[in-house]
Amino acid sequence: MVNDTENFLSKRPQRLCHMCGRCCRVVTTSVPYNELVKLAESGDEGAKDFLSIFVPYESVSAARCVDSEVVDNIINLQKQDGNYREDITFYYCKYLQDNNLCSRYETRLTLCKHCPSSPWVIVPPGCGFEGWLFWQREEIKQKIRRSKEELLELRLLKKRMSNPETLEKIAKVEQKINRNINMYSKYGSLDW
Ligand code: SF4
Ligand code: SF4
Repeated sequence: MVNDTENFLSKRPQRLCHMCGRCCRVVTTSVPYNELVKLAESGDEGAKDFLSIFVPYESVSAARCVDSEVVDNIINLQKQDGNYREDITFYYCKYLQDNNLCSRYETRLTLCKHCPSSPWVIVPPGCGFEGWLFWQREEIKQKIRRSKEELLELRLLKKRMSNPETLEKIAKVEQKINRNINMYSKYGSLDW
């Protein structure tokens, strides 16, 4: 069965990328550099892959000199979401060429092929995927709101039911719906 991530990746319209190279020139990670190095040393494949292509900028200012709009966009969004860290590190990919093209496109890593990897990923301002990602997020939010309506209907239905088997079935459906809602809780689904 195709999971949500695979489904998302398969429907991304690659034609939207206008090959500006900004997502390869100034990027960051959710974990600080030192932790990333430790993860790589302990065998974490994701961290190893990332550090095999991305080089840390000497400072945030150095990254700002290359693309201040991307740096400020990331920092502002992280602050809004409450996950900004003072020890944030920015990176550039050593395979990005001056013409904004990838010098190892045919052998690029999965992490590159999967970019943007989720509707909530932060993309550079003006990225061709910006609008499409917005609609993907909206679709998920609508789905979650419908799920919450279903929960309300089930709650009413339970009041009219007394058969233990039926009640058990309803409880299972409720659990499934709640699992789906909780899957997006880190993006705020409990408040949608
Ligand atoms: S920032 Fe967006 S438009 Fe630019 S290269 Fe990356 S994915 Fe493509
Ligand atoms: S390897 Fe290529 S696609 Fe991947 S980050 Fe570097 S330049 Fe971009």
